Amino acid sequence: MNKVAHYLQEHLVGEVMTSPDARRYFATDTSIFTVTPSLVVYPRNENDVRKTARFTWQLAERGRVIPLTARGSGTDQAGAAIGNGVVMVFPAHMNRIMEFDSKTGSVTVEPGINYGKLQQTLYTHNRFLPPYPSSVEYSTIGGAVGNNASGEKSIKYGDTRNFVKALRVVLANGEVIQTRRLNKRELSKKLGLSTFEGEIYRALDALIEEKKDVIKQMQPVVTKNSAGYALDLVKRKDGSFDLTPLLVGSQGTLGIVTEITLETEVHTPNATLIMAQFDDLKVAVQAIAEIRKFSDLPSSMELVDEHLLKFVKQHNPNQLRGIVDDAIPKILLLVEFDNPSDRNQKRLTKKTTKLLNKYQVPFRIETDPTLRDELWKVRHSAATVVAFSEGNLRAVPVIEDGVVPVERFNEYLDAVYELFARYNLQAAIWGHAGDANVHMAVRQANMAMAGYGHHTWQNFTAKKCTRFSNQPRKYLTHTIF
Ligand SMILES: Cc1cc2nc3c(=O)[nH]c(=O)nc-3n(C[C@H](O)[C@H](O)[C@H](O)COP(=O)(O)OP(=O)(O)OC[C@H]3O[C@@H](n4cnc5c(N)ncnc54)[C@H](O)[C@@H]3O)c2cc1C
Repeated sequence: MNKVAHYLQEHLVGEVMTSPDARRYFATDTSIFTVTPSLVVYPRNENDVRKTARFTWQLAERGRVIPLTARGSGTDQAGAAIGNGVVMVFPAHMNRIMEFDSKTGSVTVEPGINYGKLQQTLYTHNRFLPPYPSSVEYSTIGGAVGNNASGEKSIKYGDTRNFVKALRVVLANGEVIQTRRLNKRELSKKLGLSTFEGEIYRALDALIEEKKDVIKQMQPVVTKNSAGYALDLVKRKDGSFDLTPLLVGSQGTLGIVTEITLETEVHTPNATLIMAQFDDLKVAVQAIAEIRKFSDLPSSMELVDEHLLKFVKQHNPNQLRGIVDDAIPKILLLVEFDNPSDRNQKRLTKKTTKLLNKYQVPFRIETDPTLRDELWKVRHSAATVVAFSEGNLRAVPVIEDGVVPVERFNEYLDAVYELFARYNLQAAIWGHAGDANVHMAVRQANMAMAGYGHHTWQNFTAKKCTRFSNQPRKYLTHTIF
């Protein structure tokens, strides 16, 4: 065990691991990258996190830099949960619900809590967290905060940032801060602090004032965005100030989160799901744009393309039986309404079916929860593609989680299909049609992880991403074109 690990072992309550097995295990996440940490820590409490940060800060002051990487379940697809220094793994111990306020629905948790477990607990109180990612069952709330995760309900409810109200965060030097929206008077108190926290408030306030116009100009014209740092949301016109939106989506680069307070929504179990099958991409995108203009947005509007359906049919045919039997459509669209009033659900369903009839598109409507779940499985089968590996072949997530302006969705999809065809690659596309935000995975013999494919693809995506080279990570959760 090296000296750093030895020191931490003596001073932390949680475990410190340096075995080759542990380091190899935490050298990967769900991305295509491998970075082996020098040691792994399972913090038992905030004090463990604080002590680790303090110690590595002191070493850095003496010229020895050991990066700290926070990690939830490691389902990140862009390499954000791996690092070559200390990897701090939260699910082992820091996984509790600290407080639930049944009156306001707000909940305070430790970062390592499993998202799915928290969601199940919230359901029992008729509440839920709408921005859950597709990986809800096997990821953590800390990871969702790190990535500003969003998912199938984000078209209506927004992303994780919309729900995080306050945080406890360990800064690089081991200092602990609490964040929430501060009024002008509270802000001026923070500005007067002689601590690292005070320094951060002063520097950030000056930066935001000085670069107001640049920050405004840089806002992408998309309906959701998790790339970069949300500087635009820190200071409001009324002078109030909040570090929370900046920390959400910062992938652990600004501090390590040890406690999260979230707002939750009332859960309506009744919903109406419409599944439509399009043979023409242009018509599908036109219908999506028209549904977006309804007075009430659907709670979900998701798509899977023909390549994903073919893949599922080949590897798990039972999943499609009775849903897509013979001819595979180009696009399968799922539109769901979860309005609390049945009348509204019926009204919006009628509007949608009128639209689908106009385009002569076959569709199916389900309100029964079991049948709805059956249809949703087709969308959720995308996880099979991500997890797929056969010999040295793997489905490689590329142009991962890209989002474009809704009105350019057709152009974007046309261009990527053309690009994949040009390079003779077969890519499955699926995702959040309502936000023009999709995932893509390539599976092709020459994309083998061993051999040329891996590196070729890295170079290819790196080139495509050069516009964003000033962002916190080389590969972004959402890539904006
Ligand atoms: C099949 C599949 C489907 C997915 N679907 C979606 C989706 O629909 N939407 C979506 O947004 N993402 C999706 N993802 C990506 C990922 O699963 C989510 O973003 C998830 O929320 C990450 O959680 P995690 O616990 O695995 O975090 P990790 O992967 O461990 O970490 C994610 C980031 O959060 C940071 N982090 C973790 N804990 C802390 C902490 N305590 N303090 C500070 N930073 C921290 C990490 O450093 C890292 O930067 C998907 C991934 C897979 C494999």
